[in-house]
Amino acid sequence: MQDLRDNREFVHRVDADDRLCFVNAEWLAFAEENGWHISADKVLGTSIMAHMADVETRHLYRLLMSRARAGVHPVRFEYRCDSPALRRLMEMRIVGQELGQVEFRSRVLRVEPHDAIRMLDVSLPHSRDHCLQICGWCKAVQVQSAWLALEEAVQRLALLADAALPQLSHGICPDCSDRMTQVGGGP
Ligand SMILES: [Zn+2]
Repeated sequence: MQDLRDNREFVHRVDADDRLCFVNAEWLAFAEENGWHISADKVLGTSIMAHMADVETRHLYRLLMSRARAGVHPVRFEYRCDSPALRRLMEMRIVGQELGQVEFRSRVLRVEPHDAIRMLDVSLPHSRDHCLQICGWCKAVQVQSAWLALEEAVQRLALLADAALPQLSHGICPDCSDRMTQVGGGP
């Protein structure tokens, strides 16, 4: 049986102006495994905000970083970071450091294979006409007006027998929006 355990810790750090100032080798390797072809010299010095596709995610990161810098409550949350063939539950911890720096440490809590989810495969062609919103934090997908778990959405969409893969735009579902607004906000 394939051993999917992953004990690596992925670390990146930003300076007081939210610019990436450190990434570890594991972080770079993980990025490569997920199909983002980046190198340390390309990302270091860039604003972390430039790497986030949507306004709500930027807003939440600002909130979480300000809580981490204040250092009052631990900032820790779980999120999903799937590849087409793997379902991964991850944990992120955000810790304030000296000189206004903030460190992000994430690790894999659980990983299991799932049937290849073609929709997540960025190397396949995706339709321009059909766009779905996917939650960047839990991978729920908005189908018509409902937010469905990724696996359920895939099943539902297969019933619609869409030939072309929908394009995915990243956002945040209402549950994660509530959950993330409370992270590190104290009791
Ligand atoms: Zn969500």
